[in-house]
Amino acid sequence: MNLGLYGLGPRNRRKWLAIDLGISFAPPEIPGIDIIMPDVSFLEDEAKAGNLVGLVITHGHEDHIGALVDLWPRLGCTVYTTPFTHALAEVRRLGEPGAPKIPFHVVPTGGRTQIGPFDVEFLPVAHSIPDSHALAIRTPLGLVVHTGDWKIDPTPVVGNITDPARFSALGDEGVRAIVCDSTNAFRDGISPSETDVQQVLGELIAAAPNRVAVTTFASNVARVRSIAEAAMKNGREVVLVGRAMERVVSVAREQHMLDGLPPFRPVDAYGFLPRDKVVAILTGSQGEPRAALARIADDDHPDIALSPGDQVIFSSRTIPGNERAVNRIINALVLQGVKIITDRDGLVHVSGHPRRGELEQMYQWLRPQVAVPVHGEPLHLAEHAELARRMGAREVVRIVDGDVVRLISADPSASAEVIEELPSGRLYKDGNVLIGSDDPAVAERRRMSFAGLVSVAIAMSGKGEVVGDPMIDLSGLPRLGLGGKPLDEVVEDAVLDCLDGLPKARRRDPDAVAESVTRAVRGSVNAAWGKKPLCHVLVVTV
Ligand SMILES: [Zn+2]
Ligand SMILES: [Zn+2]
Repeated sequence: MNLGLYGLGPRNRRKWLAIDLGISFAPPEIPGIDIIMPDVSFLEDEAKAGNLVGLVITHGHEDHIGALVDLWPRLGCTVYTTPFTHALAEVRRLGEPGAPKIPFHVVPTGGRTQIGPFDVEFLPVAHSIPDSHALAIRTPLGLVVHTGDWKIDPTPVVGNITDPARFSALGDEGVRAIVCDSTNAFRDGISPSETDVQQVLGELIAAAPNRVAVTTFASNVARVRSIAEAAMKNGREVVLVGRAMERVVSVAREQHMLDGLPPFRPVDAYGFLPRDKVVAILTGSQGEPRAALARIADDDHPDIALSPGDQVIFSSRTIPGNERAVNRIINALVLQGVKIITDRDGLVHVSGHPRRGELEQMYQWLRPQVAVPVHGEPLHLAEHAELARRMGAREVVRIVDGDVVRLISADPSASAEVIEELPSGRLYKDGNVLIGSDDPAVAERRRMSFAGLVSVAIAMSGKGEVVGDPMIDLSGLPRLGLGGKPLDEVVEDAVLDCLDGLPKARRRDPDAVAESVTRAVRGSVNAAWGKKPLCHVLVVTV
């Protein structure tokens, strides 16, 4: 859920440049919420005051661009990005009804542009999606490099390399500070190349006797290209399955990233191809329940089915939190007699982030005075901080969300440190509405999912007498409590006993009646069940 801000100038007339506007996926503990995004209220106020000069998107991954359509209307600024990322954003925006028309300024890959007081150079880097960029941000006070997501891969199959000459030239120019990716700060050595993965996928497809289905992240165009090349070499046709996959491939075709490959076959051709003449590329590697792979595992896909002896390759990493969903699918496929290959069986996936050897290389190229580790959990940031210090960074600043770091000052004796804390937080996308993470809706839903809901409606006369019988409804409670007594009877007895026992004065106050009945119902249900449900009591005066 990336959102970075660079500010220049004194506090009261500071200009801000925003970098990336991403989402994160919600854990199951937040019922009913799938997507989380950064709370931009601070930035929204600055934008209104005319202090936001632009938003730069470094690359097209959801954790960097996913909140653009929802949050851009609050910012209203020009969005700077490069051609492939722009095309992806546009094709996605057009797929969302009512999405805003966003003013993009498309910078060529490797280009440079002035945004307010910031001179921003887009430095191509290798990553697991094409057209990723680090940013060299030049100001009258000095140069800061914001790496974005990157790795070193001299043979990335599709897209740019992280050019050693360009980065060491920046080091010669003099880098004051680096703000750098920490995702793989615990992994030793250098990541394998995308070409190594291509080789392994080629061997697996060549050796497969029957159908092969490969699931990967739709945005990993290099991986799609590797799979398609292996299919072509082995006389197999490629069928793309899943809307996200089709969307990315259409953009990649336009951008000439899939030149030299025959056209892929539509999904309805799958059933007519011999089992040893097809490779399906699928969405759903993270166990997403509505994606192609989950539906195939449940034998619920309109066009695609697998048979015993077919293979599914997970050319992906399971993102923490998705393990259960992915395992469910794997088990369902195994029960169908399908052979499963994951990154535990061979090099069928490689990360897009720098391992320690690559981080060290970046520090050698740039030789920054100041390092600010970002993009990782606190543990990763701490590990990266140590590495940065060892690599010669004189000042290493560890930050949490909302911290403002002084990176450069006109006063040469001023150190790099946290100087202020800005409001920050999270927004939840709830249906089509954005709510704060402290919105009571989520807490109430969690309580309802834990202990259900009891609703009671009571009609009372103006004199405080009960009219007719109270109406009671239970949802999410078991039918019988301890001792076998039905819980609806427990509730009914509690309501009637409570009303009988209420002093006359209290009965004339509907709020007081509701409060007493609520307490009685929750107490009785707790005695009979061991849990206290939410309880809604409506008292109507007739
Ligand atoms: Zn990324
Ligand atoms: Zn990222």
